[in-house]
Amino acid sequence: MAAQFLLALDQGTTSSRAAVFTPEGRLTASAAFEFAQRYPRPGWVEHEPEDLVDTTMRAMREAVRRAGVRPGQIAAAGVANQRETTLVWDRETGKALAPAVVWQCRRTAPMVERLKAEGLAPLIRAKTGLVPDAYFSATKLRWLLDEYGLQERAEKGELCFGTVDSFLAFRLLSGQPHVTDATNACRTMLFNLHTQDWDDDLLRAFNLPRALLPRVLDTAQAAGDLHPSLLGGPVPVCALAGDQHAALFGQGCLNPGDVKNTYGTGCFMLMNAGERPAGDVPGLLSTLAWRIGGKPVFALEGSVFVAGAAIQWLRDELGVLKTAAESEELARQVEDTGGVHFVPAFTGLGAPHWNMYARGTLLGLTRGSNRCHLARAALESIAFQSDDLLRLMAGALGRNPGVLRADGGGSANSLMMQLQADISGVRVQRPQERETTALGAALLAGVGKGLIDGPREAAALWRPERDFEPAIGEAERKARRAGWAAAVETALTDAGRREGAACS
Ligand code: ADP
Repeated sequence: MAAQFLLALDQGTTSSRAAVFTPEGRLTASAAFEFAQRYPRPGWVEHEPEDLVDTTMRAMREAVRRAGVRPGQIAAAGVANQRETTLVWDRETGKALAPAVVWQCRRTAPMVERLKAEGLAPLIRAKTGLVPDAYFSATKLRWLLDEYGLQERAEKGELCFGTVDSFLAFRLLSGQPHVTDATNACRTMLFNLHTQDWDDDLLRAFNLPRALLPRVLDTAQAAGDLHPSLLGGPVPVCALAGDQHAALFGQGCLNPGDVKNTYGTGCFMLMNAGERPAGDVPGLLSTLAWRIGGKPVFALEGSVFVAGAAIQWLRDELGVLKTAAESEELARQVEDTGGVHFVPAFTGLGAPHWNMYARGTLLGLTRGSNRCHLARAALESIAFQSDDLLRLMAGALGRNPGVLRADGGGSANSLMMQLQADISGVRVQRPQERETTALGAALLAGVGKGLIDGPREAAALWRPERDFEPAIGEAERKARRAGWAAAVETALTDAGRREGAACS
């Protein structure tokens, strides 16, 4: 049989997954291995670099074994990965010199505050499209070089910096290429969206030598071959992409205004913004969708900090649910929330409010309120928070996008999908293949290999499972949004009190 299968490696925050797809984008087999999360201090999150390599190799071998294919039958592999997580390794040995500092890690928050105080925020925003934050790689890298005394070796060119895609490519590909792709690069806070290259001003600001940085490839471009010892034969790696970017591609969001929302622990919403960087939309990040054939396609991105985590809270802290899926069963037992509103601002409120003093707020309770109302209010809160992002994007686009493609664990909840359609006044489309990150990585690899003609052909492979149409009118939509806005207002008033107390 001719080489035709596509292999996706999806190196995520809690597990490494691999999946084998047919060229039509149908899943043949998959495998996943979890690895340890390290929390050495409050707010710090680390991964053991070797764990990332080991679990990726195991998942890859297991998926290929389950699919029953030989390496010669795999036309290309694509890598999708947790973004922003930062590694530094020895160029000679490939060994990491420090733990991987995970995107969630807050250890460099003080450094970010200093950057802001020095007035660097507008420069960073203009060049990278990002809001200065400890999430992004630049301050993590600076911290690693300082903490481990690596500056001199970095300047001599003895070290490599990279995000997870880059580390995996170095370790798994023949010839140890030091490469990354443009979507991963644009999350470092060192990459200029406009020039599509590392930015010298930012490198100077962080005192980082270019010798430390990987070569930036297109998202769908040959990076080299998987070392033959891994699968028993070489397999060309033809795509590297940040996970959310791969998911956008896997959802077939090809045209400006096409938007997807991933319902996980948090939500990540990305909208295709077309061939030019989106303008400055407060609360949203301007980023790349992907870069193919040297041509960048841009995106707008927003996130909800607490989405599925609110369901986990009902399950684990309140004990009113046994499983996340039970939230749907309970919520369906009531017509509405009975006036209950839940603002799960456990860690503050993100876009469009950006208030770090806000906390979770439950209001409108009566003696008759029960766990069904609570479950429904939690599902609504996920839809309302997503709607807040979608409306910012609609503002940038100049129209309601009309359609929202959903994926992630929470998208299994049909009631929540319906609530989203109602609240946002959009058709919510759920695909057959909900592992859209892996699918996107596989399809990008297919494009990179030339097996799939281009993004348009890849997008044509997207298959719907179910559509959810808005079932309420504009007047009711307005009334529901007003209820949510009032609940958020209460949370913000409370936040003002808390901020006042903190400052006095
Ligand atoms: P992540 O990649 O962030 O770990 P997943 O995509 O695996 O997340 O989704 C898991 C999240 O989705 C959990 O927070 C869980 O509470 C939520 N979730 C899973 N199933 C459902 C469901 N049926 N209804 C609502 N939320 C759900």
